[in-house]
Amino acid sequence: MAARDTLGRRLRSLRISVTDRCNLRCGYCMPEAEYVWLPRKDILTFEEIGFLVDVFASAGVDRVRITGGEPLLRTDLPDLVRLLAAKSPVRDLALTTNGVLLPERAEALRAAGLHRITVSLDTLRPDRFRNLTRFDALDAVRAGLAEAAAHFDIVKIDTVVIRGVNDDELVDILEYGRELGAEVRFIEYMDVGGATQWSAADVFSRAAMLQALAAHYGRVVAVDEVTSAPADRFRLDDGTTFGIISSTTEPFCRACDRSRLTADGLWYLCLYALQGTDLRGPLRAGAGAGELRRLIESVWTRRDDRGAERRLAAGDRQPLIPLEKLQREPHLEMHTRGG
Ligand code: SAM
Ligand code: SF4
Ligand code: SF4
Repeated sequence: MAARDTLGRRLRSLRISVTDRCNLRCGYCMPEAEYVWLPRKDILTFEEIGFLVDVFASAGVDRVRITGGEPLLRTDLPDLVRLLAAKSPVRDLALTTNGVLLPERAEALRAAGLHRITVSLDTLRPDRFRNLTRFDALDAVRAGLAEAAAHFDIVKIDTVVIRGVNDDELVDILEYGRELGAEVRFIEYMDVGGATQWSAADVFSRAAMLQALAAHYGRVVAVDEVTSAPADRFRLDDGTTFGIISSTTEPFCRACDRSRLTADGLWYLCLYALQGTDLRGPLRAGAGAGELRRLIESVWTRRDDRGAERRLAAGDRQPLIPLEKLQREPHLEMHTRGG
């Protein structure tokens, strides 16, 4: 039986960050010149992650997403995928990547048992890609997406839409996804830790996205489905579907079954949570599966997080965490807790 929190939400979906390092510097996630990295000795081994996944599964988790930082920087990632794919309670095993290293990894990840893959891509224009990420890697990402589409049945593209930056590319990206057979999910710019340049004026809202798409395609119909997935899905008249993740203007915390494990074993109950639960300490001190499970269940059953809803209700939004605090507490960074 899955543990339930104070709002009746099941412990179900676990996002595991396998590294806080990244080979891009997206302006909405890692805009600064310098970062404080997690000490290498603290990074969980794949065996430790596997053990924790068994414990989480015994408490109800059946969906696992591997993320980062950039997860493909761990060159032996297929070993972790193989380890997790062999666990029968894990019914859904996914990866979120920036795609830069996918051309050479997609086939091995599929062979290792990964079920599905999501690639983050915000623009199809090389100059914009360079401005957005500080690297000249658009061709690599496109090649990675093509390789992913060749090996996986389910490929998604996640696109953060920022006003005045890439809000004129919604149709192009949707068409690109359609050609690849990849569903696109447009994400509102969030004021999470690390987004130190965030401003409300830069948010291109779900309503604005739907308006822009309807102006081009005509009718856009909401897909009627009950799900805890963060994206609301829509359908165009020709059958093409896409998603919108409206965490900033229309949050969906009421159905949120997601929690996050950092690469060094801190467990966070919300993207906006300021504190996590240390699982690495007890694990390395020899805590058994039963003891860790009781810890996880006792934390989850007290969960009342509704970070995005609270941010919206508070009004007058500024970046969540000041830069000096992020430098002291890198766990508050989006690239540390895995997005
Ligand atoms: N590096 C991988 C990638 O980019 O796919 C995985 C980690 S990244 C932190 C996970 C997701 O978080 C990406 O899709 C990224 O676009 C999203 N993200 C990061 N900062 C964000 C922000 N301020 N607002 C909305 N989405 C954000
Ligand atoms: Fe971009 Fe992902 Fe790296 Fe953040 S972690 S800078 S979103 S590629
Ligand atoms: Fe879940 Fe927190 Fe995001 Fe709300 S803000 S959907 S509670 S992770």
